[in-house]
Amino acid sequence: MRKLDTKTIVVASHNAGKIQEIRDLIGPLGFTAKSAADLNFIEPDETGTTFEENATIKALASANASGLPALSDDSGLVIDALGGDPGVYTANWAERPDGTRDFAMAMQKVETALEKVGATSPESRTARFVSVLCLAWPDGHTELFRGEVEGNVVWPPRGTQGFGYDPIFQPQGYETTFGEMSSDQKHGWKHGDQHALSHRARAFKTFVETCLEA
Ligand code: IMP
Repeated sequence: MRKLDTKTIVVASHNAGKIQEIRDLIGPLGFTAKSAADLNFIEPDETGTTFEENATIKALASANASGLPALSDDSGLVIDALGGDPGVYTANWAERPDGTRDFAMAMQKVETALEKVGATSPESRTARFVSVLCLAWPDGHTELFRGEVEGNVVWPPRGTQGFGYDPIFQPQGYETTFGEMSSDQKHGWKHGDQHALSHRARAFKTFVETCLEA
């Protein structure tokens, strides 16, 4: 395992919601981070079939372009009743023909697909959010960290916080969706805390324990 010995990194993402969350997570640890979007890096094609492959593609692209270590996140919603869909294609489900993303439409697609397979009871709507973080160095070395959070898909969407599919995901043991939680509640994480809730915070906790702590 390689340790990270700099506090200047690139957040290898063009997704504003995700960039904000990663900034919320790394900020308290004293990192200065520009994003791939700030640096006008080209968004690489996510040609992998796993979260790990896509996270690696994104992190290496930013590490190569910047000459700095780069941290990417590839994530998605894995729904049991849909055979794991949308999974690595979670972002694609939100894409409109003009290339913009519409998450109200994407959440409706999920609901329509669940109704189509008769998954209307809470027990039949189990799902998990998965996040795989990849830290890549300009010399091509990579480290991967995976985090998952179990929950249920709910309908109608609830809450206006967070991003993406947050309003339809209710983590197990909670009465509120991610869309109804503040950033701190969603991550269940502040520097020094041992508890992490969101998939991204869980992956991030492993990253900190592996690459930052002595
Ligand atoms: P990626 O950029 O290919 O990793 O796309 C991930 C997709 O999953 C995006 O469409 C996000 O909206 C969705 N997603 C990932 N993490 C979250 C989350 O924490 N909340 C809501 N949606 C998420």
